[in-house]
Amino acid sequence: THNTMKLKTLLFIAASALTCTMAKAGQQVARPKLVVGLVIDQIRWDYLYRYMPHYGEGGFKRLLKQGYSCENTRIPYVPSVTAIGHTCIYTGSVPSIHGIAGNNFVKNGQKVYCTDDATVRPVGTTSKAGYMSPRNLWVTTIGDELRMATNDQAKVVGVALKDRSSILPAGHNPNGSYWFDDATGGFITSTYYTSKLPAWVKTFNAQKLADKYLSAPWNTLLDKKVYTQSTADRTNYEDGIQPGVEATLPLNLPALRKQYGYGILRHTPFGNTITLDMAKAAIEGEALGTDSVTDLLAVSCSSTDYIGHQVGTNAIETEDTYLRLDRDIAAFLNYLDQKVGRGEYLIFLSADHGASNNALYLTDRRIPAGSWDSDGAKRYLNEAVNAAVHTSGNVVSHVMNNQVFFDRKAIAAQGLDFDRIKAAAVQRLEQDSAVLYAVDMAKTATSALPDEVKFRIINGYNRERSGDVQIVLKPGFSAHGLKGTDHGAWNPYDTHIPLVFMGCGITPGASTRQCYMTDIAPTIAALLHIQAPSGCVGQPIF
Ligand code: ZN
Ligand code: ZN
Ligand code: ZN
Repeated sequence: THNTMKLKTLLFIAASALTCTMAKAGQQVARPKLVVGLVIDQIRWDYLYRYMPHYGEGGFKRLLKQGYSCENTRIPYVPSVTAIGHTCIYTGSVPSIHGIAGNNFVKNGQKVYCTDDATVRPVGTTSKAGYMSPRNLWVTTIGDELRMATNDQAKVVGVALKDRSSILPAGHNPNGSYWFDDATGGFITSTYYTSKLPAWVKTFNAQKLADKYLSAPWNTLLDKKVYTQSTADRTNYEDGIQPGVEATLPLNLPALRKQYGYGILRHTPFGNTITLDMAKAAIEGEALGTDSVTDLLAVSCSSTDYIGHQVGTNAIETEDTYLRLDRDIAAFLNYLDQKVGRGEYLIFLSADHGASNNALYLTDRRIPAGSWDSDGAKRYLNEAVNAAVHTSGNVVSHVMNNQVFFDRKAIAAQGLDFDRIKAAAVQRLEQDSAVLYAVDMAKTATSALPDEVKFRIINGYNRERSGDVQIVLKPGFSAHGLKGTDHGAWNPYDTHIPLVFMGCGITPGASTRQCYMTDIAPTIAALLHIQAPSGCVGQPIF
């Protein structure tokens, strides 16, 4: 009977694939009923394989088996951080063009958070988590294009714990964008989108799933003995999932909830579970994938990143998070099979960035690594600049995103020579033993840098919003402390990401030919026969 089942399944897949491609011969354009983008925050490409022995059949393994895997997908810019990653996936564009120059960047001389918008109001909460919109984004997303291509008949929805991971993928004109609110334990939005929460979101929040997921301890899914891909549960390399929390499993979540509130959910694998619950609620609430007009659901699982930062890439907590996510993805794919139909939807899985190995973990293995002090750098840069142009102005305003930001207004007001200031900063940085290169952003193209580094700096440099000097640290070095991990650099550990397409229009397979994160949006555009987003620089993957 097992073989009969298998045969039935195969026939079913074949039949579904036929429906999906047959439309080509008819009058209608062949399109899936639903496109699902599934971005896993901080998942490195190698995690697909590293934890495979304990993955089930229906999650990551199913995607690799039934989908097409672009095994050598790289991020084509720095800094490789969350807001930029999510933006680039859905726009096919880069920070120099799309305007999202970091999670935080400088706008009109002020440091801002990427999706902050004081002109809107929270909806579904009174907390400040709702003052958000996509207004800092300068280009369209694939969802914006899909809406226009279908005369607004397509529905587009974004869902994530992190506001930026829902708002930026959903774009300027979606039907909704929802993110998690620590104050209420529910999903919220802002007046940019609507004046009140839709009934289905209220119903979802009334289920109090955050309470449910925080009512029991977080123990390992499997026997601790089988977590052979991780170091011991308590090492020097990890912090607790929150400062002051023990870095071992099981964790007493009911007690942590009392201490930290609902926000602690973000730092557990169940933050991913509730996100996929909300994704299902969105499919039902907005009737996504129910008619011949293609809809788009942009989902991002953020807990992998919160956990990764604290415990690093070698912790049992991280391994357990991926094993649990694998089960959650399997259930989600099953749900899509039932609800939308096998072969009727197109799903892609990717990441916004990867993560480096913990610096102490590396040095314990005699691999060069270390922590770099960006505050210390800001101090020495101001001293060097003050000396070079004979001022006491401290015109270095921020060192963030591995970039040096200058107070351009003060420089102009004092009539200081900006080129000399930048040259002094570059010279001083290159005396720092952790710095590989420092580059005046305006001169990157003519600097003696390897191409792999050069094009990423140019793509990442937004003339209005980025810093004016880029710092490239030596491999293994980051501004993160000595516990856990970070990301943001050009190196393979931060920029080699998974990319798997599965479903309608996709022939199973794999390729190691290099492609880029910015190729995702034009590939979706090509599959849907719609216009690529307005700032797209990528190429469709064939
Ligand atoms: Zn991220
Ligand atoms: Zn641990
Ligand atoms: Zn992160």
